[in-house]
Amino acid sequence: MFLRVDKLQVDLPAPKMQDANAAAALQELLGGKYGEMSTLGNYMFQSFNFRSKDKLRPFYSLVASITAEELGHVELVSNAVAMLNNGPDDDGDEEDGGDISGAPYEDMKDIRLAAAFLSNGGGATPVNSNGASWNNDFITTTGNVVVDLLHNFHLECGARLHKLRVYSTLSDPTGREVCGYLLVRGSVHAHAYALALKKITGVDIEKMLPTPNINLDQIPECQKYLDEGSHRRLYTFSPNDYKEMSGIWGNGETALPGDPKGELEVVDGMPDGGKIHQLTGIPSAFTPDYAPEEMMEIATKLYKKSR
Ligand code: MN
Ligand code: MN
Repeated sequence: MFLRVDKLQVDLPAPKMQDANAAAALQELLGGKYGEMSTLGNYMFQSFNFRSKDKLRPFYSLVASITAEELGHVELVSNAVAMLNNGPDDDGDEEDGGDISGAPYEDMKDIRLAAAFLSNGGGATPVNSNGASWNNDFITTTGNVVVDLLHNFHLECGARLHKLRVYSTLSDPTGREVCGYLLVRGSVHAHAYALALKKITGVDIEKMLPTPNINLDQIPECQKYLDEGSHRRLYTFSPNDYKEMSGIWGNGETALPGDPKGELEVVDGMPDGGKIHQLTGIPSAFTPDYAPEEMMEIATKLYKKSR
């Protein structure tokens, strides 16, 4: 089962400006072929379907714990998409009276992903940068541990490729931070699946890394995550379980040659995380609704009663 914590995995800087097309580009990291929905779906169903879980515990634990991290990545990218659609942080809600007769959103008909506004109120959904739905065809769960791990290794390298490409399209700090953090974590996952394959087959697959061949220290947004050693850590994302993956991620194994040196380590639990930003209420877009004062008064009363 899953435990939910009301935080993002990292702190994201607020957007400098509202940028619906940047949000659309970032959607590729959510609902694209190699996006977070795909990594989540693959590892989640592989872990559910895993044969001989007890006997293969280090391998099962690895896939199971990374599943939980990927769910947090889905949350992180989704928040960033909504933040870019929302614009700079604003504690207050807009009070425009909900007058839509002057076509206040005329510009939105020209953005790439108009449905993101028209259907989803500026929120994220599992589609790629062009609005094509994410789907089950992006999931591989063969029941063969080597084939599944090979698929996962390919998936993380593919994800790295499209993170680098999305990064090179963005100038806003929010989107860039997401790419920087996920590049570090994706490198960890590619490395972890390579080591798992090495334990089973004896082949030094980690020598192929990094693929594509660009070191993390060339991305400024990766720097602080490298400094704190994130590239050497895997989290169990559990109070007590999944520690057995230290047989794969650990055991004297060290960071990749292009990254800051050090031993690999399994960390119990989860990262400290960062805050979830508020999204502005906009009456003229009916979010959360026209004239929201009554709803907020009701919510305040309910909140006080619950304390
Ligand atoms: Mn991910
Ligand atoms: Mn990953």
